[in-house]
Amino acid sequence: MTESVARTSDRIWHDIFLPEDVSHVREMARDAVATHLAPVAREIAQREESVEAFPWGAFKGLASAGCFAVPFEKPFGAGLAHPMLATCLVTEEIAYESSSLAGVYDGQCILNARTLSFAQPHVREMVLPGLISGDLVFAFATTEPDASSDLTPTALKTVATRTEDGFIVRGRKRWITNSVVADWVCVLCRDGDTNDATMLLVDMHAPGVSVGAPDLKMGHRGQITADIVFDDVFVPADHSLGAPGSGLRTALTALAAGRVGIAAAGVGVAQAALDLAVDRLRTRSLFGRKLGEMQYWQYKLAERATELEAARAMYQKAAVRMDRGDRSAEPEASMAKSFATRLANDMARDALQIHGGYGFARQVSATGETYRLEEIYRDAKILEIFEGANEVLQWVIARQLIGRDITG
Ligand SMILES: Cc1cc2nc3c(=O)[nH]c(=O)nc-3n(C[C@H](O)[C@H](O)[C@H](O)COP(=O)(O)OP(=O)(O)OC[C@H]3O[C@@H](n4cnc5c(N)ncnc54)[C@H](O)[C@@H]3O)c2cc1C
Repeated sequence: MTESVARTSDRIWHDIFLPEDVSHVREMARDAVATHLAPVAREIAQREESVEAFPWGAFKGLASAGCFAVPFEKPFGAGLAHPMLATCLVTEEIAYESSSLAGVYDGQCILNARTLSFAQPHVREMVLPGLISGDLVFAFATTEPDASSDLTPTALKTVATRTEDGFIVRGRKRWITNSVVADWVCVLCRDGDTNDATMLLVDMHAPGVSVGAPDLKMGHRGQITADIVFDDVFVPADHSLGAPGSGLRTALTALAAGRVGIAAAGVGVAQAALDLAVDRLRTRSLFGRKLGEMQYWQYKLAERATELEAARAMYQKAAVRMDRGDRSAEPEASMAKSFATRLANDMARDALQIHGGYGFARQVSATGETYRLEEIYRDAKILEIFEGANEVLQWVIARQLIGRDITG
């Protein structure tokens, strides 16, 4: 049975480097997840995507508990000394229960929080209270049908044409998290026919904005995505996020932070799978002894626990670098994301294998017992793909290691 196994991290992970206020945020997040997400997480993971399936209860509950205030400065948010580190800990706690809700949180509270740091003060005053309370849903849109890993402005087909008092946006974005219920979207556009890009805050209720049907995916069912089409949408000049023409910098700054958040999500997912595996090794008997007595699995899980220790330390180091003012925290951010998300997949595969047929099932009908490994296994895969495919991140690391003159 999956529910409520002991957390091995409470016994073997030592939070000796975490500032006290950040440790308190972790406790707050763990309580919020237990109250607002855990009771519905299994059902969210299984339901087919639709507009009605947006996980409002969990979304609003996490916001009301204070999770959405964590990344922001006062007077809007919590005003923490280490907002990025704390936000990543919240992400890890959410991912432990639901990888897809961690994706939703990452969209609202990392990608959009970072992007909106480039907004003019009066625009921030207009939108941040609603973002933090959960009354306003935000989406972040860089991907297009033919552009994602490659965001060079000339690859973008969504174009913002400058007018006297703003921009006219035309184009299509793909896979946009939260778009089916979003109030606002931050959109990366090509700046006219130049080689530059502009990031714009677009009102999802403006004339000319339409959203497609939700995509049907193998996992991350709670992270609902769809296309957004912009059909000559007017955007006022003061909704440019950063100076017009500097949008790629705005987008890459947000994605650099998002990648650390996804590293934290990978750690949460790996931790959940490890805990289920350990519980099974301690309780399942075969050949007259516990499964955990087999040295094969002892060695395997000792290795995975070691990797998990490293992955957590890596994302926390990258987050602290960001809190100290580094815009991208490379190479640690790419190392953390690629390492932690690969580990999430490796650990999900091992934990499923340890469960045998029970790992492959979500329910055994004869007994009504439910199992979570198939959910974790399906959900983990996207972590290696979005917010910088892991192969792209290896390139980022190699550039620093070998030099861009050689790697390109
Ligand atoms: C659930 C989900 C949520 C998403 N949410 C959002 C969102 O909110 N906003 C948004 O803008 N996008 C979002 N995306 C899009 C996501 O970021 C892209 O799918 C991802 O960036 C990969 O882009 P692509 O699918 O176009 O694949 P491609 O860009 O076509 O890449 C395919 C593969 O090519 C390989 N590759 C690419 N570049 C290199 C390289 N340099 N070297 C070696 N191999 C390489 C990698 O293996 C990569 O996986 C989401 C996607 C999903 C599935």
